[in-house]
Amino acid sequence: MSLNLAPRADEPVAADLYAQHVNPQWVKLLDVLQMNVEYARCENAELHTVDPARLVLDFNSGYCVHNIGHNHPRLIEALKRELDSCGPAMLQSHVPDLAGELGARLCALAGGRLNKVHFASSGSEGVETAIKFSRAHTGRRGLLYAADGFHGLTCGALSLMSNPYWTDGFGPFLPETAAVPFGDAAALERHLATGQFAAFIVEPIQAEAGVRLPPERYLRTAQTLCRRYGTLFVLDEVQTGLYRTGTFLAAHQFGVKPDIVVLAKALSGGLVPCSAVLMSEPVFESVYSSLRRAMVHTSTYSENGLAMRAGLATLDVLDEEELGLRATAAGETLRQALTDRIAGYEMVGEVRGLGLLNAIEFRPPRSTRLRIAFEAFARLHPAVFGQMIVMRLFRDHGVLAQVCGNNFMALKLAPPLTVSRQQIEHCVTAVTKVIETVHRGAAFWSDGLGLVRRAVRSL
Ligand code: PMP
Repeated sequence: MSLNLAPRADEPVAADLYAQHVNPQWVKLLDVLQMNVEYARCENAELHTVDPARLVLDFNSGYCVHNIGHNHPRLIEALKRELDSCGPAMLQSHVPDLAGELGARLCALAGGRLNKVHFASSGSEGVETAIKFSRAHTGRRGLLYAADGFHGLTCGALSLMSNPYWTDGFGPFLPETAAVPFGDAAALERHLATGQFAAFIVEPIQAEAGVRLPPERYLRTAQTLCRRYGTLFVLDEVQTGLYRTGTFLAAHQFGVKPDIVVLAKALSGGLVPCSAVLMSEPVFESVYSSLRRAMVHTSTYSENGLAMRAGLATLDVLDEEELGLRATAAGETLRQALTDRIAGYEMVGEVRGLGLLNAIEFRPPRSTRLRIAFEAFARLHPAVFGQMIVMRLFRDHGVLAQVCGNNFMALKLAPPLTVSRQQIEHCVTAVTKVIETVHRGAAFWSDGLGLVRRAVRSL
């Protein structure tokens, strides 16, 4: 008897199965945005679709995951070798030497007071770790965070997020948390002075808030205040870490030495989930304080061989290809070219960023002609304008970019750190053309109506 494993004509294909059993709303959203294309091969910053004539350049990097580019051959080779070795990938009953190696390298790169690492599998899990360790170390329960930040969607991490889009319907959250405006040192001090807070948790650059850079000296002042009032200074570098802003940590550019740093996303090159929480010795020892507590905070897959190998290979690539230097240079090129070409447009508020974490912030138009259209769309949903830009960039120019999760008026541009000058030039030309259509004629806005109609039809 022979088995015929080919799908029958009436069998659903994989994409239908996804809609049926995983997330139909996501499929609908991609359809509405005309971004539901099938990818055949992803290399470096290039996403090749199944249509050989259609190439997409990745200026999102999976939200700052693909710092070394998609499917880097060195990473793939290292993972293949690791698999072929049939080693103790995940025993939880031995000393995983690769975790030691990766931990040592991360601490050496991070410097300052960070000399211990706890591994986990996601950014959210890293933030949960930072919460637990801060509480254990200080004996305090309160948690302070900067408004509009993004720290993850588990309940503890969500307790540190102010945007109701993410939190509605999922509460109650952790008690005794409080938000302070990002950049407001006086508000920070007022809260810290109560002596109730275990940690102040903040992104050095708020990525999803619109790539918001901290005011001059803010992070240093925050660090000083935290030390003064016995609160741990915790940096969420899930997007900013791994040379995204030009240095290994963004902390290095702002001259701060945090007590805890959370890394994830780019750490394992986009192929195996991995996160790392770097911390000082005293913080670490307040949790793993005795033999009895040797396993008090663990997670099944946290130190698994593939993730650790992926981390080591990713660090090799970042180092050998000098991707920090390249991020700095390419970022300057990108911001300069964008500023030269689009700064004069009415709806362009600001081009800003550091290294290859950049954003264009749009502003509501002043002229009546544009204002009527803009406000009509904004009344339908505040995200529509930004999504129309994202859709046009993707559909008409083959550039994948995204608006920020907590700021729909900011378009984030964060390509792999390996991005070439030509690819940057392609993106800048594409962005310029789309912004030109926003400002001239009715095509952009009538296209927007198409988007809204598709959205209404799929309700
Ligand atoms: N912190 C920041 C700054 C993030 O951007 C994210 C994810 N976008 C997280 C934490 C959570 O990471 P994860 O999705 O891996 O849980």
